Amino acid sequence: MESLINFRFFWDTLDILLVALIFYYILKLIEGTRAAQILFGLAIVVLLYFASESTGLFTLNWLLEHFLGSIILIAVILFQNDIRKALANLGKKPLILRFRKVLSEEKTVDEIVKASTFLASRKIGALIAIERNSTLEDFVELGMALDSQVSRELIISIFNPSSPLHDGGIIVGHNRILSAGSFFPLETDPDLERSLGTRHRAAIGLSSETDALVVVVSEETGIISLAIQGEIKRGLDATSLNNNLLDLLNIKKSTKIEELVYNKNTA
Ligand code: ATP
Ligand code: MG
Repeated sequence: MESLINFRFFWDTLDILLVALIFYYILKLIEGTRAAQILFGLAIVVLLYFASESTGLFTLNWLLEHFLGSIILIAVILFQNDIRKALANLGKKPLILRFRKVLSEEKTVDEIVKASTFLASRKIGALIAIERNSTLEDFVELGMALDSQVSRELIISIFNPSSPLHDGGIIVGHNRILSAGSFFPLETDPDLERSLGTRHRAAIGLSSETDALVVVVSEETGIISLAIQGEIKRGLDATSLNNNLLDLLNIKKSTKIEELVYNKNTA
């Protein structure tokens, strides 16, 4: 009898752990994306359903009951892209098994800042998206997929006007350059300043659809801007771009300041 109880205990624990793991990966997958908003909407519908049941709002309850009856079908249709990708990812090698050189987050930001200021000084246009929680995989697929170490030389070479990949933006994620020549969604807000052309609108558009940070270097003015959550900060210099990126990426600043001072003294 005792061994039977232990046996159940083992399988029940495993069962709970597996379900928790599945929920964890689903939540991680959709964190900060539209899917999260959709899921939130569905949660409200479920709450409404129970509320209508207990308060006796029968017509509303009837309607929601039928809606929730086909919820699996609705979910599959709404999330078809995400489901397809998640299943495809299951077959890929886990990240830990891929050995490659990855710079520290601080160094990555430093390389991006140095490349941007160099490009700005030469008035070469650039568009650099930095992934945070929501995946930019869709936009990687739209461009030329890469998997390279982040270096100012590579970023500068990509945006060189004679480079075949200079059109569009690059995507940086997990401290790697994931793609070049990527096309981002354009912001269509009619209230935007007229002086902002398509490069800036693409930066604002991507930053409002995802939680990415997007650095823009203007070809016309050499001005460096940073788009975050649909807003654009204009006229940044090396220090302010660096500080903004470190802050928004939650990277500790202490060593960074020392390095900046050091660079200034040795320049
Ligand atoms: P700039 O100040 O550099 O002139 P801008 O905001 O005025 O920028 P445009 O002059 O229209 O913008 O810039 C055109 C360039 O922007 C294109 O050559 C292309 O590289 C890039 N671009 C345009 N649309 C997109 C997009 N949807 N996604 C990514 N890059 C884009
Ligand atoms: Mg322009």
